[in-house]
Amino acid sequence: MPEGVSEKAGTRGRTTRAPRRREAEPVPSEAPSPEELARVREILARLREKYPIARTALHFRTPLELLVATILSAQCTDERVNQVTATLFQKYRTAADYAAAPLRELQRLIRPTGYYRNKARAIKAACQKIVADFGGEVPATMEGLLTLPGVARKTANVVLQNAFGIPSGIVVDTHVLRVAQRLGLTTHADRDKVERELMALVPREEWIAFSHRLIFHGRETCRARRPLCGQCILQTLCPYPQKTK
Ligand code: SF4
Repeated sequence: MPEGVSEKAGTRGRTTRAPRRREAEPVPSEAPSPEELARVREILARLREKYPIARTALHFRTPLELLVATILSAQCTDERVNQVTATLFQKYRTAADYAAAPLRELQRLIRPTGYYRNKARAIKAACQKIVADFGGEVPATMEGLLTLPGVARKTANVVLQNAFGIPSGIVVDTHVLRVAQRLGLTTHADRDKVERELMALVPREEWIAFSHRLIFHGRETCRARRPLCGQCILQTLCPYPQKTK
């Protein structure tokens, strides 16, 4: 389900306010065993070695640009988003610019990213709220970001972590969800619950990089269809190949 378009607003791009059921930082439910923590440490070490540089591939200079780029990245490659934002960010520089932008013009500019009608509505609505409630500046808190139409925890985490350097949680996108499930790091499908479980397993100082590394690993090796288990650096730590024999 495209984040930023429908993460909390549904596929029709509704912009209803998210239920404020989550605190800025979820509390982990159960303490993991020492054996599990040792396995996770080894997983982290191997991923760290393979992906020493772990940061978003989206191009941005400001929190606002990252917010817009993240909304555009739903169901779209980072490369395509970067091509579109190279022009978009020249034209619109402030939240007020997006808030006042004619919807059709915004749609035309972001069309190559797909779902452009919903994405344009989401960007415009979020920026109108930023102008109205936050003086035109993207809020640097989870609580503030979650009040923006179309923004839920995943987008908020991306912005807080990459634009503000705040380890607010763990971004659980489709790759993180799939790889974490296969590695047996979670039994849940609900992303909020998965995030809570991962936060209990991964040291806080690694939260930001861990998300990126799992995404890289999911794209390159632990693919949705036909994961490359035979070439995987985590094979000896992963229960998935045994399950599928
Ligand atoms: S062993 Fe297979 S399922 Fe496990 S992480 Fe590696 S690619 Fe994914």
